[in-house]
Amino acid sequence: MQKGKINVQTENIFPIIKKFLYSDHEIFLREIISNAVDATQKLKTLASLGKFKDELGDLSIQVILDKKAKTLTIRDRGIGMTAEEVDKYINEIAFSSAEEFVKKFKTKSEAERNNIIGHFGLGFYSSFMVSEKVELLTKTYKKGGATKAMKWECDGSPNYTLTELDKKDRGTEIIMHIEDDAKEFLDEQRILSLLKKYSKFLPVPIQFGMEKISEKVEGEKDKDGNDKFIDVEKPRMINNTDPLWKKAPADCKDEEYKEFYRELYPMTFDEPLFHIHLNVDYPFNLTGILYFPKVKKNLEVQKDKIQLYSNQVFVTDSVEGIVPEFLTLLHGVIDSPDIPLNVSRSYLQSDSNVKKISSYIMRKVADKLEELFKKDRESFEQKWDDIKVFIQYGMISETKFYERAEKFNLFKNVDGKYFTPEEYKKHIEENQKDKENKLNYIYTNDKDDQHAFIQSAKERGYDVLLMDGVLDNHFINAFEQKLGGDAFFKRVDSDTIENLIKKEDDQPSKLDDKQKEELKTTIERTIDAKTFTLSFENLSETDLPFTIIRPEFMRRMKDMQQMGGGGGMFMGDMPEQFNLVGNANNSIFTQILEEEDEANQDKLVKQVYDLALLSQNLLKGEALTDFIKRSVEIIK
Ligand code: ADP
Repeated sequence: MQKGKINVQTENIFPIIKKFLYSDHEIFLREIISNAVDATQKLKTLASLGKFKDELGDLSIQVILDKKAKTLTIRDRGIGMTAEEVDKYINEIAFSSAEEFVKKFKTKSEAERNNIIGHFGLGFYSSFMVSEKVELLTKTYKKGGATKAMKWECDGSPNYTLTELDKKDRGTEIIMHIEDDAKEFLDEQRILSLLKKYSKFLPVPIQFGMEKISEKVEGEKDKDGNDKFIDVEKPRMINNTDPLWKKAPADCKDEEYKEFYRELYPMTFDEPLFHIHLNVDYPFNLTGILYFPKVKKNLEVQKDKIQLYSNQVFVTDSVEGIVPEFLTLLHGVIDSPDIPLNVSRSYLQSDSNVKKISSYIMRKVADKLEELFKKDRESFEQKWDDIKVFIQYGMISETKFYERAEKFNLFKNVDGKYFTPEEYKKHIEENQKDKENKLNYIYTNDKDDQHAFIQSAKERGYDVLLMDGVLDNHFINAFEQKLGGDAFFKRVDSDTIENLIKKEDDQPSKLDDKQKEELKTTIERTIDAKTFTLSFENLSETDLPFTIIRPEFMRRMKDMQQMGGGGGMFMGDMPEQFNLVGNANNSIFTQILEEEDEANQDKLVKQVYDLALLSQNLLKGEALTDFIKRSVEIIK
C-alpha cells in the first residue's frame, strides 16, 4: 500500500472546495459522469484504431445510489487506469488543475463567480464538494506489466492511500460517501432530475436504477378484448446518445426536427415555425439546431430557452453573452467545445472565438430567412406576423443584421399586402411626396380606433401601413434614421388629411381673422377645450368641420416616455396632447356665425364637435347619450 500527501507545499484546497466554491454543488455529478464518458469514448477510439482488440461489451455507465451505505457510485467500463496513471492523473494533474481553478476562483468577486457559466475545470475533485470520502476503483484495459486493479482513497484531507485491489472488470468506479450536509444527493428523484438535466444527450448510455414500463403482450387480449399490457422492470436509461444536432443536416427529416423540438421542450405545445441546423468545424467547432418559435407578445417568457452543450454535456440554458441578445428569442441547442466555460459572461463577450461564433450564428439566421423568403414568398408572408418581432429586434440591435434583413423585412399595409422596403418605396413614391419632396410613410397602430383617418387617407390614394407590433415604435425610429431625413413616418391621426402630406400651399380661407376669433369664443364657451389646443386651418370644403389630431412629435415623445426612454427630457408625466382643428372652409362655421340664437349656436358647435369625437371612438358615457338625444331633436 502506498500512502501519500497529494500536495504538501500549498494551501489545503479541500475545505475551500467543500465550503466555498459553488452555490451549485450539483455540478459534481456532471463532472464525474463526464470523466466516465471520456474514458469510455477513449476505449472506443482505441478499438476503432485496432489498438484494443477485446470485446467491448456493454459500455453503458451505471449510476448507483445506496441510501443505506450513503454512497453514490458512478461506474464505467472505459479505459481505466494503472497505478502509475492514478498517481499521475489523479494525484498530480487533476489536483493541480483543481488547485489552479480554486486559486483563480478565489480572486473573483461573488458576482463574478455567479457569472461563470460552466463551472468547468474543477473536474474529479468536485466530488469532494459533497463527499466526506471518495474511493476510486480502477482497472486498466492494458495487459501485462503493472496493470493490477487499484483502489485510491481519500477522506478530504491531503492524504490519500493507494492499494492493490481484486477487481475483474475493466474500467473505473467512483464511490462517493455523501456527507450529511449534502444528503439531498442521496435522494433518488434529485439524482434523476440532475441526470436528466446534465446527461440527457451524452454519447454513452447512462443507466440509473430500474423503471416500470408498460409493454404490450403480442397476440394476447384482456377480458374486454383490448390489447393486453403488462408492467415490466427495465433498466432506466437516461439519455439519447444520438441527438439530432450531431447528424448531418442532409440526413435529417422535417418530422425528426419537430420531434426533437418536443424532446427538448416537452411542456411546449406550439410547433416551431422553422429551424436552422448549424454545423461547422472550422475555424471553430459548432453544431446545433435553432428553432424559430412563434413569438408571443410577452418576449421575456420566451427568452433564454437555448441550451448550451459542450460535447453533448449540458452547460447552461442561458446563452446570454454568447449570442446577440435578439437571438436569445430562438429555441434549440448549441454545442461547442470552443466556448470557454470557466470565464464570466462579460469576459465571454470579448472573447474572439465567441465573437466569431456569434457572428456565424447571426449570418446563418439571416441566410435562412433570406432563403425562405426567396424560395417561397407566400409562405414567408404567412409566417411574417409570427417572426416580425424577432426580425425587428435584430434590425434594431445589430447593424450587421439590419443590412441583411433589408432584403426580407416586410411592411404590411392595412389591406394585408406585404412589401419589402424597396417595393414599398416604389409603391408610395408617386403619391406620398410632400412639397419638400420628402417621402411620407403613413401608418396606423390601431385599425379600429383610427378607422376614420385611415378611410380618408385611402380616399386620397395614400397607402396606410399597419404598425401595431410591440417593437414598431422602435423600428420606425431606426428606419427613419437609416433614411437620413428623406422620409418620415406619420401616424394617420397625427394631422388633418390636408396636412398629413402637405403638397401645396394653403388654400384661401372663407373666414377672416375676426370671424375666427369670434368663433373661438363661441366654441370655447360651449365645449370644454381644456384638453385641446384649438386652431383653424384652411382645409377643403368637403373635409370635416372638426378633426382631433395627435401631433406626431408630441405623441412619440409620450410613447418614448412610457417606454422609459426620452433621455429625461421631461420631468413629470407628459399630458396627453390633442389638437382640435377647425376647418375654416367648411360652411358649417359660417352657419354658426350667422345663427343669432346663442342656444342654437351652442347646439351646432356641440353637434359637430361630438361628431369628431365619435369618429375617433372618443365619445363615451353621458356625452354619448346627450349626443343621441340632441341628434334626434335636430332631425325633428
Ligand atoms: P479532466 O477530465 O478535465 O482531465 P479531471 O480532474 O476530471 O480532469 O480528471 C483528471 C484525469 O483523471 C482525467 O484526464 C483522466 O485521465 C483521469 N480520469 C478521471 N476519471 C477517470 C475515469 N473514470 N476513467 C479513467 N480515467 C479517469
